[in-house]
Amino acid sequence: MSDATPTPKRAPVHAPMTQFPQAADGSLQIGGQSLSLLAERVGQTPFYAYDRGLLRERVAQLRAALPKQVKLHYAMKANPLPAVVGWMAGLVDGIDVASAGELQVALNAGADPVEISFAGPGKRDIELQQAVAAGVLVNVESARELPVLAAASQRYGLPARVAVRVNPDFELKGSGMKMGGGPKQFGIDTEQMPELLAEIGRLGLAFEGFHLFAGSQNLKPESICEAQQKSYELALRLAALAPSPVKFLNLGGGFGIPYFPGEQPLDLSPIGVNLQQLVERAAVDMPQAHLVIELGRYLVGEAGIYVTRIVDRKVSRGQTYLVTDGGLNHHLSASGNFGQVIRKNYPVTIVRQHGAAPVAERETASVVGPLCTPLDLLADRMDLPVAEIGDLAVVFQSGAYGASASPEHFLGHPRCVEVLV
Ligand SMILES: *Cc1c(COP(=O)(O)O)cnc(C)c1O
Repeated sequence: MSDATPTPKRAPVHAPMTQFPQAADGSLQIGGQSLSLLAERVGQTPFYAYDRGLLRERVAQLRAALPKQVKLHYAMKANPLPAVVGWMAGLVDGIDVASAGELQVALNAGADPVEISFAGPGKRDIELQQAVAAGVLVNVESARELPVLAAASQRYGLPARVAVRVNPDFELKGSGMKMGGGPKQFGIDTEQMPELLAEIGRLGLAFEGFHLFAGSQNLKPESICEAQQKSYELALRLAALAPSPVKFLNLGGGFGIPYFPGEQPLDLSPIGVNLQQLVERAAVDMPQAHLVIELGRYLVGEAGIYVTRIVDRKVSRGQTYLVTDGGLNHHLSASGNFGQVIRKNYPVTIVRQHGAAPVAERETASVVGPLCTPLDLLADRMDLPVAEIGDLAVVFQSGAYGASASPEHFLGHPRCVEVLV
């Protein structure tokens, strides 16, 4: 036995939120302005703020890391705020929508219908008809969609542009949320593809390609590369059965961002190398095909914050609680109730209210929302700058799956505002 003292294990920490520099007043800076002043400008808390510059930078980083032939799509369910969708439409190559409602927002935002694709289980007939009328690409997820699309195509005298979403026979390892492999409500099982592709040919639909989406929130480049490789191989096999050449090969995405202590930002370089190989192979195997990557969270997640105001400060049996004016009702994900198995803290900080001097002391405190449920927890016993009533509690990594993914009616508190700055 060695008598050397073991190095004490340090608790894992959050990745630093360096995307928001410190403002001159000690508050953090978003969209080039101090957050404490922005809160005054917005005129209410809670609110979400998204930084346009960071969105632009993120797209530029991806463009630099991935081959230029790869098309970059924004999956707008991550953040459907019309101002965000409009801004993103000007930066990326296409928008992925998951309902006719999102389709409306994308078209209003000025997205080119040719570069819009529509995926999702349970598309209603009216939604399929709207998609054909709009001229967007429908990612077919069920054989039931085919006759509806064919009928709409005939009625409007327009081609029904279709790609097939494949439920592959593999999973994206290390994903927060698995959306392919095994039995799934998404896409068409590989085994059913020969019959479905033949039916697309018989109905004379405008076949354009394949869509594979294995899962979400992955921080392991090697598993993303493996899923992309396998997706490519599968698409290549299926292309042999397709009624016409593949024009779009959507290899999914699943790029994650660091939310929890110990998580590190995704390294894009191996993914770039892997995609370069696939681009070169596709040039030979499927010369008409464009490779597409569709990302939601990775594009918008780190550019957004959720801002609440502290309305009470309580100590209960030695534990400090900062009670805010919003929580789970606006930000279900940060409360840990949107798909997390074990609740962990998002990165959170305190910003002094406008005009208040910065505080150097820190304390351990829990940040809780105003709802009558113990689930309304934004930070569980975190090390935070000491806060007073009136100060702001800020949740980072909140640009994706925030406002639109939260039960804002629960308990009847005021709506939150969203601003793009
Ligand atoms: C949700 C979804 C996305 C976006 O996932 P992120 O984790 O936000 O990148 C992309 N494609 C499909 C088909 C989706 O359902």
